[in-house]
Amino acid sequence: MIRKFISRVFSGKKARPGHHEPAVIPVSTHGITRDRISTGSRRVCETLQENGHKAYVVGGAVRDLLIGAEPKDFDVATDATPEEVRRAFRRSRIIGRRFQIVHVMMGQEQIEVTTFRGQLGEDTKKDEHGRVLHDNVFGSQLEDAARRDFTANALYYDPTTEAIVDYHHGVGDLKARTLRMIGEPRARYREDPVRLLRAVRLAAKLGLSIDPEAKRPIREMAVLLENVPAARLFDEMLKLLTSGHSVKCITQLRDEGLHHGLLPMLDVILEQPMGEKFVMLALANTDERIRRGKGTSPGFLFACLLWHEVLANWEKLKADGEAKIPALFQAMDTVLDTQGEKLAITRRIAGDIKDIWLLQPRFEQRAGKRPYALLEQPRFRAGYDFLVLRAESGEVEMELAEWWTRFQAVDGEERAQMLLPEQAGDKKRRRRRKKPANAGSAPAAE
Ligand code: ATP
Ligand code: MG
Repeated sequence: MIRKFISRVFSGKKARPGHHEPAVIPVSTHGITRDRISTGSRRVCETLQENGHKAYVVGGAVRDLLIGAEPKDFDVATDATPEEVRRAFRRSRIIGRRFQIVHVMMGQEQIEVTTFRGQLGEDTKKDEHGRVLHDNVFGSQLEDAARRDFTANALYYDPTTEAIVDYHHGVGDLKARTLRMIGEPRARYREDPVRLLRAVRLAAKLGLSIDPEAKRPIREMAVLLENVPAARLFDEMLKLLTSGHSVKCITQLRDEGLHHGLLPMLDVILEQPMGEKFVMLALANTDERIRRGKGTSPGFLFACLLWHEVLANWEKLKADGEAKIPALFQAMDTVLDTQGEKLAITRRIAGDIKDIWLLQPRFEQRAGKRPYALLEQPRFRAGYDFLVLRAESGEVEMELAEWWTRFQAVDGEERAQMLLPEQAGDKKRRRRRKKPANAGSAPAAE
């Protein structure tokens, strides 16, 4: 059915790059009626239009509706300036990120409203690699379309007329399941290297193939990612890992050679047989959760991605004679210091990551009161899920994970009977831990 309606779409008037007149595709051709658009974004467009402005739903939402996917959010593009937009809506504020945009609240919905962006000029500020630094020039809709990354992302839907305005043959490209860059791909990657990651993510998520022209330069241009601010990489990584298609994304990133500049340790991890298995299991597990509508936490994800680095460091420190738990603390800090900077892992997320890691040695203690105390830990569930993945990847005995699965399921006498006998070493270890010298700066999880 989707195929049929996309063929109808395709029969609409085509727009070619460089051609200034866009194709205006009527609803009778593309079939997307205004009730498919969120109420909030519709009302934002209507209000702006009543004020004499142009306003469209743009970008990912139009693209997703055309291929039959559920849009994540509905963004609006307009010829009104941010100040004009702000004045038109009582519950709105200007956000000064890379481009100035306005957040408009409509009921529970938050709609991002962007003013049409202008062409990059001679005087556009760029860094020494050609990455655009400041980009706040307003422009016409035609210019705005040319500034977007892929043809499928440059579609404008007017909720009033229900027509799609298509400057770059995006509807046709979508029909052909192709992700095509607007303009010269190398130049566009240089302006903003994050587009390298967007190409891979969108292709994987939407089941599109990257047009050869856009695909070819990816490998050689991957080094440009090193120059991208960590916070932007982090945002894009999170989008990629929580797209519900992370296995496909990571596999494709590796095939394109993109993981080198990105997560500098990920190539190392993927080359260790045990590490790769663990990461891939963790990602498959996350994809499954997201597709079933369950949430995931960034802390859990990054804990998985970095675990084998921690393990390697931890083993080394123990081999050098460091005691088990202090060695784990040291290994965690080393890994988070190296990776944290690159990925701009926030303090809060780093705390979550550490909690999960620190619970791991505690799962080995199955005697006395300690298993009961562990169950009460606020992060127990995440720690347990993590343990199961470790067992499935072969890093620890499956028997250990199964023991904990059962320990949670049963209670009372049955639970008590599961406890292992105290070993001589256990008590000694406990006494030692009470000494102030070991108290250190251990977080709550320990
Ligand atoms: P998603 O489904 O992840 O939201 P999206 O394409 O909507 O995908 P957004 O980051 O929400 O991604 O961006 C909205 C729109 O802004 C895009 O569809 C595209 O037109 C434009 N855009 C976003 N990032 C870039 C970029 N780096 N370069 C050029 N255009 C971009
Ligand atoms: Mg979007």
